Amino acid sequence: MDHSVGGGAVRRGEEASKHRVVHREAWASVVYVRYQHSGKMCEGALLDSDTIEEFEPGSGINGSPTGRTIPLADVRLLPPCEPSKLIIVARNYAEHAKETGSEPPSEPHLHPIPASSVIGHGEAIALPPGIGRVDHEAELVVVIGRRCRGVTEEEALGYVAGYTCGNDVSARDVQWGTPPAFARAKSIDTFSPLGPWLVTDLDPSDLLVECIVSGEMRQSGRTRDMLFPVQRLVMESSRWMTLEPGDCIYTGTPSGITPLKGGDVCEVRIEGIGSLMNPVIVG
Ligand code: MG
Repeated sequence: MDHSVGGGAVRRGEEASKHRVVHREAWASVVYVRYQHSGKMCEGALLDSDTIEEFEPGSGINGSPTGRTIPLADVRLLPPCEPSKLIIVARNYAEHAKETGSEPPSEPHLHPIPASSVIGHGEAIALPPGIGRVDHEAELVVVIGRRCRGVTEEEALGYVAGYTCGNDVSARDVQWGTPPAFARAKSIDTFSPLGPWLVTDLDPSDLLVECIVSGEMRQSGRTRDMLFPVQRLVMESSRWMTLEPGDCIYTGTPSGITPLKGGDVCEVRIEGIGSLMNPVIVG
């Protein structure tokens, strides 16, 4: 499995690790991973592009190191959080609205979906036979860190644990069918890849977001072109529902959506985070 960090993901390195206990609050960033190793669910942080520093079980993003390290190549990565729900933001880039024949919205369009559609890095996106057209949507995903309701834009980033890559896989014949079924089109099992890890303290305002399908670049955009920035999306989401730790906001996709087919490998690559890779199967 390809665990390459790519895209300039943060490296903490030995220097930061050495000062961990004393200067924890001064760290620039943590690359938090959840993974399976020797049949156990584990968590930790990347020390570099090849090595995980293991945390005490259940200790979370600011976890306590056990003192053990594990090669990244020896683990199966899991989604970096356990959401109670996903909030899908529709048409948050003007060029994407245009390619779907829609006007850019005047306020954020938020669609909550169940989290049962989430899969991690390396797991297969399974296209149900006869489902029709299914597209990739490369997206920056906001992961909530603290329970909140009714936060202001100014407060919003204080409730964010970090950022990861997401693929808002969408069954268009369901979404645009009769009747239209936006949420159902996106909540099919395996249709919400998430990962490979969570990066804290990342500035989300101008990151390159790309989608590469079987080696071919299909989407390339920057988060500065979002119609509604991350702060606004957190604020609007929290107006209507309590956001729980681990909840995810899929922030919308740049233009360039294309259909997936069995045998493809779909990669979502985001600057400062890394690459989320998922094979596509029919079944
Ligand atoms: Mg989307």
